Formats: sequence, structure tokens, C-alpha cells
Amino acid sequence: MGLMTWLDFVSFLLLFILFVYVIATNVITQLHKVYLFFHFSMMIWPLGQVAVHMTDNPQLQQICINISFVGLSMLCFGWLLFTKYLTNHKLMLSPRDFLLLLVPSVIVVAGIIWNPNEGFMSAVQGRYEYRQYGLIFWLMAVMLIAYFLYSMKLLARAYQTDVPPSDRAQIGNALTGIGVFVCFTLLDLLINVVLARWLPVVPGLTSLGIVIADIYFVFSIQKHGMFDLVNIAQQDVADTLSVGVIVMDEQNVVIEKNSVVDSMFELTVGVRLDMVKLLQSVEDSGNFDTFLEMYRLHPGERIHTEIRVAEAGRMVYLSMHVAPVVVNQQIVGRVITVQDLTELTRLVEESNRQNEALQTRSRALLMMQDELYQANLKLELMAITDSLTGCYNRRYLMQHLEHEVVMNRRDQIPFALFLFDIDLFKTVNDTYGHLVGDEVIKNTSDVVRNMLRPEDMFARYGGEEFTIYLPRTTKEEAEELAHRIRSAVEHNEIETGKGHALVSVTISMGVLAVDPQPSSCLEDGESYVHEMFVKVDKALYEAKENGRNQLAVVQ
Ligand code: GH3
Ligand code: MG
Ligand code: MG
Repeated sequence: MGLMTWLDFVSFLLLFILFVYVIATNVITQLHKVYLFFHFSMMIWPLGQVAVHMTDNPQLQQICINISFVGLSMLCFGWLLFTKYLTNHKLMLSPRDFLLLLVPSVIVVAGIIWNPNEGFMSAVQGRYEYRQYGLIFWLMAVMLIAYFLYSMKLLARAYQTDVPPSDRAQIGNALTGIGVFVCFTLLDLLINVVLARWLPVVPGLTSLGIVIADIYFVFSIQKHGMFDLVNIAQQDVADTLSVGVIVMDEQNVVIEKNSVVDSMFELTVGVRLDMVKLLQSVEDSGNFDTFLEMYRLHPGERIHTEIRVAEAGRMVYLSMHVAPVVVNQQIVGRVITVQDLTELTRLVEESNRQNEALQTRSRALLMMQDELYQANLKLELMAITDSLTGCYNRRYLMQHLEHEVVMNRRDQIPFALFLFDIDLFKTVNDTYGHLVGDEVIKNTSDVVRNMLRPEDMFARYGGEEFTIYLPRTTKEEAEELAHRIRSAVEHNEIETGKGHALVSVTISMGVLAVDPQPSSCLEDGESYVHEMFVKVDKALYEAKENGRNQLAVVQ
């Protein structure tokens, strides 16, 4: 082979590599790529067949023949690949499947190029126009037939299944194309190889088969717009939607549906859609009857319904819209969109349930909070009051007074303090018992409390001794009240039980009245209160000394 020939051959290889590179790397659909590969493989066979007759150089002749057979071997792979896409264009072959389909072709191609021990072919009288084939050739023939039979099987199966009419026509054309090709190739094999000794050579049979088959393909592709990117994209979009789409003609015959619909209903393309049958398992009618009536009688209206359908033991919620397709003011069909709202409905119901549970819990919490608040109030009251009489206890009185006296002195407010003790109480206890004694203490304190103002502070000082703090009270007012209290207690008669006599007690009282003292600021409330109690206690002692049931006023 001369240098120029080699240069041309290298140029051809480079161009071929560039062609593959451009196809592989640019944005065209997988289908386009497969078709280009497939078409290229088809072109190689006749090219090699022509080239073999254009040279006397046996080496070049061998290369031409090899090119032809490599093309043919790759063609069967390309054809199968194309069939795969044609029968299920959504299918993206996994790399593993792709390799599995490719491997037999590649092995045969390697055998053809390597031609070990002339196992593929040998020249007759040193030339390759006439050649003898070996085992590898027959292997290739078997492989070729196997590939095509498998392709035909796939196509035939797809033809019988439920596919849209346009897809079916495409598949039918491809099937015919392959059939024609297989017939011509077998004829070529029979006449020019098997019966070559007895029959004259009939050239170009396989090439003719390839051309006729491709014409079928091209016709099918053009007619059905199979490579129309918009078409492909539309189908892809329809199939990737989460909404089921059904397109019907004006007779309600289904002409198109996307894959989502298959998971919802059993529908056949080309068959009239029976809405009642379609939704026969509807559980919840809702506005379903109105929907059906509208569907039947008003095909021009947009209608909507939400339905519950029992499906494989679970409840499915569907939202269904029906809209007319109007062309030139005429209804040419209808589009039904169905959305599965099961998950959404479940989420809404779940969130409602959780909301309710939360509300119940928050109500219980509020109740608990209220109970706690009431218990706290009780505790607070218990901490500052005396349980028998309900009066403040001594500790609280002292705390309160320490604060009050400081404020009263600062603001020059008069106030008074009484300390009284029930006279001869031991006798009451001894005569009537401690329970009656308790009752007398309680009853006497009630009588006294009823005579006080809300702002006065009445506290049990200890045993049967009580203190009254009277804010904003002058000495006269204090004395007058002290007399009235003493008298009220004296005249109070207390029951000691059914059928028993009434008891009366008297009290002796020390009275201390503090007038406002100008320009005197008190620092230590505690010791002042202590002093006050020393004084008033002394007065009480005086009253007792003077014969009880009387007052002694601190001067
Ligand atoms: P006086 O006129 O000098 O006050 O005579 P008295 O008997 O009242 O003497 P004193 O005040 O010392 O005695 C108080 C008695 O009151 C002593 C105690 O047993 C009794 N006492 C103290 N607290 C209670 C109480 O809560 N219930 C009862 N039933 N008795 C009490
Ligand atoms: Mg007493
Ligand atoms: Mg006492």
C-alpha cells in the first residue's frame, strides 16, 4: 500500500473518530445517537463491497472486506440497540446491559480482524474478490441471525402490547424492515456462499436488503416524527409528571396516556373510556354523582371531583379534573388529569390528629397550672395565717409591722397597737375541756374580726393572746374601739355543745397609740416594734393586775 493510500486511510480514520466524538459529546438525544451509529454501520457494508473491487492489492482487498464485515457485525448490535429504544424509549440501558449486548459483536469483530489461521476467510488464488470462509464467518452469521431474531422478538412483543397507535405503526415498520434485511442477507448467504459453486454470483444482495430496511426506517421516522425533539420531550415530560394524564378524542376513546395513569387505573389505548366503570370502586361519593352527570352531559365544561377509591386494601384519594380540548371552537377531545392526594391527605389528617392531641395536652396543662396556682395560694396563706382562727400568725405580723412603722413614721401617720388576752382561760379549759377552749378562742377572734376595717391587721400572738394593728388611727379612735371590743367580747355568748350552758369570756387589753412625730426618721423598725410590744405587754399586765376585763393605755 503506497504512502498516499495510507494517508487517505488515516484521514478516513481521523474523520471517523471526529464523527464519533461530535455525536457522543453533543446534546442530542440517546435515540439520535443510536440511530446515527446504526446508520453509519449500515453504510460501511456497501462501502467495503465497492472498495474491494477497486484494487488489485490483496492486502487492501482484505481491509475492505474486513471493513464490510466489521460494519455488518456492528450493525446487528446497533439494530438491537435501536430496537430497545424503539420498544421502550424511556429505557436507559445500564452500562452492564449495554456491554452484554455489545460483547458478542466485539468478539466477532476481533475474530474478523485477527483472522487466526485464516479462520475467518482466505483468498482464492491470492485475491479476495473470491474468498473462502472459515468457522469465524459462520459464527458471525449465527450471531447476526441471533441478534436479528432477538430484535424481531422484542418488536413483535411490543407490537402486541398496549401502545399508542403511532408507536405501533413505528414498531410495525421496523419489524418489516428487519424482516426484509434478514431475507436479503440469508439469500446472499445462500446464493453467494452456500451454493456459490453451482450458482452465478449475484452481487449486492445484502446491500440492497440494508437499503430497503433503512428506507422503511426513515419512512417510519419521518412519518411519526419519532426524532422530533419536541415530541420526545413532550412524552418525557408527560411521563415524568406526578399527575396522571389521559387524552381522549371526541368519542371518549383513549388516544394517549402517561405512565402515571397505569399505576392508578386499568386503561387501554384505543378503547372507549367508561367513567362509571373506571371509578367503580369509589368509596366516598361526595359530589361524584354531579360529576358523572356533568361528564356525560356537558363535555364542554371543566369539571372536578375528589374521590376515595379502595385499591389493594388501602384507601386512595384522587383529585380528578376533566377539561375539553377545543380547536376552532369545536371540542375535539378531552384531557383528564388525575392527581394522587393520598399522601397529602394522610399528612393533613395526621397533622389534624396531632393538633387535637396537642390541644388536649395544652388544656390539661392549663388546668394543672391553675391547680398549682391555687395550691400555691393556699400554701402562701397557710404560711402566714393561723389554722384555728384564720388570723395572721405572729411571724407575719412582725414582718409586716417592721415595715409599717417605718413608713408611718416617715409619712407622719398615726397608728395604734392592741394586745389582749382572754381572762382566766385556764378555767375554761379546765371546766369545758380543750375542744371547747379552742371553740372559745375561735369564736372570740371572729367577734373581734367583725369589728375591724379591712386595712386593720389582726394576728394571733400566741395561745389566747391576740394583737391588732390599726393604721391611720388616732389615740381617741383607738381607745374608743378598744372599749367597744372589750364590751363585745364580754357580751358574746359561746355555745359549748348541745344541751350545755353558754360560755362568756372577758379580755384584758393593753392599748398603745402612736401619734405622728415631726422630724423623726426611724432606721431600725425591728427594735422599735420590739419596744412597742414591751410597752403594750406591760399595759396588758397592768389591766390584768387592775382586775381584768379592762383596758390599760400606754401613756
Ligand atoms: P389570765 O387571766 O392571767 O390570763 O389567766 P389565764 O388562765 O388565761 O392564764 P394564761 O393566759 O397564762 O393561760 C393560758 C392558758 O390557755 C394556758 C393554755 O393551756 C391555754 N391555751 C393556750 N393556747 C390554747 C389553745 O390553743 N387551745 C386551748 N384550748 N387552750 C389554750
Ligand atoms: Mg389568759
Ligand atoms: Mg395568756
